[in-house]
Amino acid sequence: MGMFDRFLPKKKPVEIKNNIPKEKESIKKSFGVYCNKNHGTKGEKLCPKCTALLATVMTKMNRCPYGITKPICDRCEIQCFGDKNNKMFNEIMSASSTGMMFKHPIMAFKHKMASMSVDYSKSKQEKNEREKAEAKAKNAAEKAKAREEAKKKKEEKK
Ligand SMILES: [Zn+2]
Repeated sequence: MGMFDRFLPKKKPVEIKNNIPKEKESIKKSFGVYCNKNHGTKGEKLCPKCTALLATVMTKMNRCPYGITKPICDRCEIQCFGDKNNKMFNEIMSASSTGMMFKHPIMAFKHKMASMSVDYSKSKQEKNEREKAEAKAKNAAEKAKAREEAKKKKEEKK
């Protein structure tokens, strides 16, 4: 270790951050905001329905097929909580977003950023797939053209 090493950019192995604990916290707070407002509860004590749904969500998150690389639950394509629960969960997450901005602005902001990054990677993926499909179509068209020309030449020879 030279004495100037600390001025050099550190080479760190690529590490995947585990955002699940933070997302759980953010979901809990969102449920609190929603339940307090809509179900007449106070503070962290939620109504039985919200408590049950929250428990299901927390359990499912631990078994997420994506592992720690998971997208945020309210933007996930799988949504593994079950039909009725998914609907309720999405409603709670979207209805509480404004309240979250006031009560837990940093958390709400981070959640918003995570949501935007899901959009970004989705649009990037869609673009890749579109380009692939276009290239494939072009390739197929060129092949068809070549076949057509070969056929013409053959017929001319006759
Ligand atoms: Zn509730």
